[in-house]
Amino acid sequence: MRNMWPPISKNFHGNPHHLTAFALTLLIVGCDVKAQNAIPLPELTLELRGNMRQSGAIIGKTLPFANIAFDGENFNADKDGNFVLGFDRDAGATANLTITAPDGRKLERTFDVARRSYRVTNVNGVPAATVNPPQSMRARIAAESARKQTAWSSLDENSRGFAQNFRWPLNVVRVTSSWGAVRRINGTLTRPHYGVDLGARTGTPVYAPASGKIVIAERNFFYEGGLVGIDHGQGLITLVMHLSRVNVVAGRTVEQGEKIGEVGATGRSTGPHLHWGMRWRGRQLDPSLMVRPLAKIE
Ligand SMILES: [Zn+2]
Repeated sequence: MRNMWPPISKNFHGNPHHLTAFALTLLIVGCDVKAQNAIPLPELTLELRGNMRQSGAIIGKTLPFANIAFDGENFNADKDGNFVLGFDRDAGATANLTITAPDGRKLERTFDVARRSYRVTNVNGVPAATVNPPQSMRARIAAESARKQTAWSSLDENSRGFAQNFRWPLNVVRVTSSWGAVRRINGTLTRPHYGVDLGARTGTPVYAPASGKIVIAERNFFYEGGLVGIDHGQGLITLVMHLSRVNVVAGRTVEQGEKIGEVGATGRSTGPHLHWGMRWRGRQLDPSLMVRPLAKIE
């Protein structure tokens, strides 16, 4: 078609043959555009893999920027069509998912969510001052709480770590307290344990379980001690706490496996260990469910 364009010459504006050829070219180009528009819309597909169970996460793939409605949340898949869903510790037996393509087509699914049972454990010897914080600490705790809420509401659009196969944050894994257990600390029943505790010595290197952006990096929070949180994208955030050393700063990105700190016993901790937690849009999820290859869901 290139040779149909009128030659550029000083006579162009005055030559009716050239103008006719130019108009014909525009007509043909117009037809081409029309033909492209006639290509059928891409099929509204949905692929899911992960853990369809309480405290589990699902990695999904559909059309780019499709709208996702799930458990009261409303958001969009990323530019590649990837997204994350998460189930609360005590999520109900079924969950509904509605996908709306940018062109308005809809796809609806209802899932059965498997139940989990959670252990009740007794924890004694925690210093009383941290169980019932003194009046003098309340302002500090409130300020730290506000900073955590800001971090946990991060939605970094550039992070793609959520779609990786996660790794444990330690090279040697020894689970000392499972996720979701209800703890009776010094005899008083507390909120569930929203983390997996891994036993390790102070100074043991801690690695990023997946790539992402650091949303919080603190050395000495009242409850958490040394705390690092990573936004893996699509609302999925993991966090490690009680660190003796913090090797990253908020705002920078980390690759999967990069050292982010060292195990310690800082904050509300009875001894050196790593507490590993995961959040998705305000819900608490079990990160240990992410370290095995995620099974495809039919
Ligand atoms: Zn813990």
